[in-house]
Amino acid sequence: MAISNTSRNVLLVLVVFVGAIGWCSLFGCTQQAARPAGDRKENSQAAVQPPQRVAATKVKMEVTEAAVGKDDKAGIERQQVCPVSGEKLGGMGDPVKVLIDGHPVYLCCQGCVAKVKQDPETYLRKATQSQQNR
Ligand SMILES: [Zn+2]
Repeated sequence: MAISNTSRNVLLVLVVFVGAIGWCSLFGCTQQAARPAGDRKENSQAAVQPPQRVAATKVKMEVTEAAVGKDDKAGIERQQVCPVSGEKLGGMGDPVKVLIDGHPVYLCCQGCVAKVKQDPETYLRKATQSQQNR
């Protein structure tokens, strides 16, 4: 009968197909296990990532001027010197307060604010160091 022949053929194709896949995966596994050690070494070397590149562009810290209030007295005494000029705070009149990335930093004069805005990171670090040296 034609129908039974066809279904038998389909079944045969299926069996061969599944058999082929099974054999392939088995063969693949065998091949991988049988790989020479040198081959695997090459693979692990390829997986080693190149050294990370240093970011070329730095995100500049935000510098905002703030009014000096009573609460700043302690901070001024702690910092003592202007991170830009190295002058003693208060020696040239009232200190100027700026917030570098939210951290209060005191400067000897208005002229130093512009310099801080050019390189906030450096002056924040200097101010923090002089605060810690107290
Ligand atoms: Zn100054």
